[in-house]
Amino acid sequence: MGANVKTIERKGSTPQERFYLLEIFKGMATTFGHFIRNLLDTRKLYVRHYPEVKPEIPVRWRGRHRLTTHPDGTVKCVACFMCQTNCPANCIMIEAGERYDGKTEKMPVKFNIDLLECIYCGYCVEACPVDAIRMDTGIYSVIDNNRESFVIGLDELLKTPGAFSEEEYKKGGA
Ligand code: SF4
Ligand code: SF4
Repeated sequence: MGANVKTIERKGSTPQERFYLLEIFKGMATTFGHFIRNLLDTRKLYVRHYPEVKPEIPVRWRGRHRLTTHPDGTVKCVACFMCQTNCPANCIMIEAGERYDGKTEKMPVKFNIDLLECIYCGYCVEACPVDAIRMDTGIYSVIDNNRESFVIGLDELLKTPGAFSEEEYKKGGA
């Protein structure tokens, strides 16, 4: 059986638009106009001297993850796997273990996130029933020179502090 191919006629292109050179010159004229304007008057030119001047991070901005803790410093995560199940990039790997401090039945003994696979969608944060995972670290620059170091584990996730106070975070509607 042959493939049922539907040919769609391209509409909306005038002969001038089909002759791409004219459109290219129009685009170049716009670019050149901006270049001259900015060259003659730099006051409206917005330049951030990164990395010396860091960008302001709003509370709702999703940065590198962290795991939150109870006031006594113990891990909040109950190893329910909701974040892992909801992760569209399949980049969270949790291993659950027994918990003996009476808080819950389970806790993670392994909690890895592969930052090279992560698409920073925030679904893990939304899925968590106990607010144990957040993306409020304010870390926007994740760089290294080997793939392995982009997989962050439980210790790293627990020791990274949040960039905002609890009030700011809650007010930010996160
Ligand atoms: S931000 Fe999205 S892709 Fe990244 S770990 Fe969370 S759910 Fe997965
Ligand atoms: S971080 Fe939250 S959603 Fe993920 S396993 Fe722990 S408690 Fe469950």
